[in-house]
Amino acid sequence: MGSEAKQLHVFFFPLMAHGHTIPMIDIARLFAARGTKCTIITTPLNVIDFADNIDRDKKSGLDIGVEIFKFPCVEAGLPEGCENLNSLPSPDLTLTFVKALQRFQEPLERLIEKHRPDCLVSDLFLISTADAAEKFGVPRIVFHGTSTFSLCVIENILRYEPEANATSDSEVLVLPNFPGEIEFKRSQLAKHAEDSHSDFKALRKKMSETELASFGIVINSFYELEPAYAEYYKKDLGRLKTWYIGPVSLSNRNVIDKANRGKKATIDGHHCLQWLDSKEPYSVLYVSFGSLSRFNNAQLLEIAMGLEASNVSFIWVVRMDKLKAEDQFLPEGFEERMEGKGLIIKDWAPQVLILDHPAVGGFMTHCGWNSTLEGISAGLPLITWPVFAEQFYNEKLVTQVLKTGISAGNEVWSAWIEPDKVSVTKDKVQEVVSQLMHDGEEAEDMRRRAKELGQRAKKAVEEGGSSYKDLTFLIEKLRVHSESD
Ligand code: UDP
Repeated sequence: MGSEAKQLHVFFFPLMAHGHTIPMIDIARLFAARGTKCTIITTPLNVIDFADNIDRDKKSGLDIGVEIFKFPCVEAGLPEGCENLNSLPSPDLTLTFVKALQRFQEPLERLIEKHRPDCLVSDLFLISTADAAEKFGVPRIVFHGTSTFSLCVIENILRYEPEANATSDSEVLVLPNFPGEIEFKRSQLAKHAEDSHSDFKALRKKMSETELASFGIVINSFYELEPAYAEYYKKDLGRLKTWYIGPVSLSNRNVIDKANRGKKATIDGHHCLQWLDSKEPYSVLYVSFGSLSRFNNAQLLEIAMGLEASNVSFIWVVRMDKLKAEDQFLPEGFEERMEGKGLIIKDWAPQVLILDHPAVGGFMTHCGWNSTLEGISAGLPLITWPVFAEQFYNEKLVTQVLKTGISAGNEVWSAWIEPDKVSVTKDKVQEVVSQLMHDGEEAEDMRRRAKELGQRAKKAVEEGGSSYKDLTFLIEKLRVHSESD
């Protein structure tokens, strides 16, 4: 870059859900580290979760800032203060929330008019940002937040509806015209054929249209992880301008950044590290189901009993916000018996810090893409327990393509969290944990493959790596576009 080159200014507008905001902030910081001026757009209650991180970045010399838009909760039919998917009192309000997002078009237009940024990176769900960007000729880049593999499965089943002709939920289907002979039971696939008239279908259609009309797509993944699907996405599904710039979580290099992603952890990071330091390498299983998934007491009890029976050390993160304090979700005397063996973190863990510790040897995950990729980046084999949406597809990437994970056996797809469901029993938990964490040829092979993938992930983001280079290409492309304006 020549010294007189104009500094690029990029807006980042994430969806208000931790699984989307966290990686988008990492992406903004990656751009800022390359000399770009970055403005993150969010709302009053969401900024609280990452304001400290941005302050640290500013102090370290990055040109990064935040613009705050009021969230029109009440006007949109949401309870006051409901500014994040995580705070919806009921899943029935999801569509209302997604519709509320479209109200940001006006303030965004005002902000674009004032600053005239060179690019807007916004979440797929923020459909109206496409119109705002187009009005001012600003290139919009779409961020989905999931794997290319899942994007390909979603598009494939929308096009071919392979589940529509299956005669039973247990029937095994191979996706048509899809790389890799990937097998799904019908029950593991979204039933799009059944919701053909829903509002969601209309929204999805609009998302797809705005995506195809966009300047391109930025993906939190690395090419070497899913090359067949990166090619399929580009050539067969027509997403010609796609940049692979992940795993973006690897941009967090020091303890404080790794420990404070999303929310403030409810355990001190150093205490966590000390606990892990006392354990043998690869001996601890980390168990966490992301920011949105919640289990009822009966399911939590099955997990607790399965972990105890498997006899491995573990760190288990349990979301507390929807559990009543008096609710008993652990077996009698569990915490005393597990003293020194199991660490329960109530609410929010410093996940990336934990995963990177050499004592951790496996990760039981709900297959949210960030968690999956963070586990892959740490070189870990996974126990896959999808809970909703494309998590069921990320599971297949791990178990059938990468072959670095074992399924816990939740085989019934769900659009959203089903808090009343008990999908995995104590015996199954014990079986898969033992299979993953104890010796055995299959587990050894999985560990070896996972370790290799972790090394490749780190290489991808280093200078000269594929993701590093793709970010350079993207920034150059934006520069050319900006100069030709
Ligand atoms: N996360 C965390 N601590 C927690 C739970 C989640 O740091 O206790 C982070 C996790 O590292 C990941 C994100 O929150 O970056 C969750 O995103 P993911 O896509 O895995 O799942 P979602 O929350 O969207 O279901």
